[in-house]
Amino acid sequence: MLHSALTRLDQAGQHLRIDPDVLEKLRLPKEMLSVRLMIRMDDGSRRSFPAWRCRYDDTRGPTKGGIRFHPKATADEVMTLAFWMTVKCAVLNLPYGGAKGAVQVDPHQLSKAELERLSRGYVQAFARMIGPDRDIPAPDVYTNSMIMGWMADEYSTIQNQPCPAVITGKPIALGGSLGRDDATARGGYYLLKQLESRLGLGENRRRVAIQGFGNAGTHIARLLAAEGYRIVAISDSRGAVYAPDGLDVAATLATKANGNPVTAIANGRDIREIDRDALIGVECDLLVPAALEDSIRADNARLVQARTILELANGPVTPEADAVLNGNGVTVLPDILANAGGVTVSYFEWVQNRQGYYWSLEEVHGRLKTAMQTEGERVWQVAQEKGISLRTAAYVQALTRLASAIEAHGTQNFFIG
Ligand code: NAD
Repeated sequence: MLHSALTRLDQAGQHLRIDPDVLEKLRLPKEMLSVRLMIRMDDGSRRSFPAWRCRYDDTRGPTKGGIRFHPKATADEVMTLAFWMTVKCAVLNLPYGGAKGAVQVDPHQLSKAELERLSRGYVQAFARMIGPDRDIPAPDVYTNSMIMGWMADEYSTIQNQPCPAVITGKPIALGGSLGRDDATARGGYYLLKQLESRLGLGENRRRVAIQGFGNAGTHIARLLAAEGYRIVAISDSRGAVYAPDGLDVAATLATKANGNPVTAIANGRDIREIDRDALIGVECDLLVPAALEDSIRADNARLVQARTILELANGPVTPEADAVLNGNGVTVLPDILANAGGVTVSYFEWVQNRQGYYWSLEEVHGRLKTAMQTEGERVWQVAQEKGISLRTAAYVQALTRLASAIEAHGTQNFFIG
């Protein structure tokens, strides 16, 4: 996976004049720690879970990236996600490097007390690696604000002092930032609004299909529905529904909040249950992958009918699928830009924790909007000037910033010149 992800860096490198030192530095992670977490289960037994934390590169600042709890998490996936975080922070010009962490576990099989022990165990194992000036975790798939609160508390206990800035995405009452809960989707929404007319969206082209109905998926559904978009399909891990006339987003959210799958809203008439993976091929104008990696691949990319893809998930489109989509005239708003609202408001949370001074929701939204629109506009211009995809343009923007930081330490030419 990492190897495949790095091909995009190489593609961007072809459009820039950068020192070979730069690509050499970004080819491998700086630090990867692999541990076994062992926790006491409620029935008295002990169980082990593999866990990882990867700090990919810290040239531009302390590393930043979420922690995922997922039964299929792997070391390779963690390194790839950490690489993407490095690039994403550079696209948004945040003073961070990139990192990621994961535990290979199905959190839905744990009791709440077991989940707390696992979360605290993670911090005990990685306390030497994380820290407010070193590496700052955040939520990702199947982790949430409560888990971040437990983790910050465990780290503070180890340090013998409150350390809220060690983790972002915390509950508001424990030093979280207003606006962090929907930041990933909101960032994507601001970007989409900025480019809406250029993408040919709006007016009569407002049908949306959303893959994944968790943090990113639910909030984008809410924001787009309020803007007059019609949400015609939604999926989660258990299935998908399709309603050509549009779904009632509030009712779907309520169904989900009660612990039901999205398919519980199917009624056999205007809301049909469809195969989970068929969602990417439904008739719509905008497709929003908001679940996991590799959902659009060489074998199914030709099924996509949408003209625009807003990547809220990390890595939903493989490099091979990119070629198919480009060939079919589909514009992809790439993950390293489109879902960067989450890490941007995480950065705001870290700044507020360090200042001990908290911002209003309006201030958070205003700063997020400026960041997404400024950097989105830059990426758009790079794509136009160089005649390249928005994804390659976002990599060019990131690589330019990473290169100037890496080259500032001196390159081969400097030392032998
Ligand atoms: P989440 O755990 O809140 O939600 C994940 C959703 O995906 C759930 O509804 C789950 O049922 C669904 N899902 C899982 N497998 C699926 C499948 N095969 N088909 C359809 N749906 C499936 O996670 P999240 O925080 O919303 O993250 C989703 C994606 O967004 C991930 O790729 C994550 O890395 C990325 N992301 C999240 C954030 C953030 O701040 N939460 C920030 C940046 C990127």
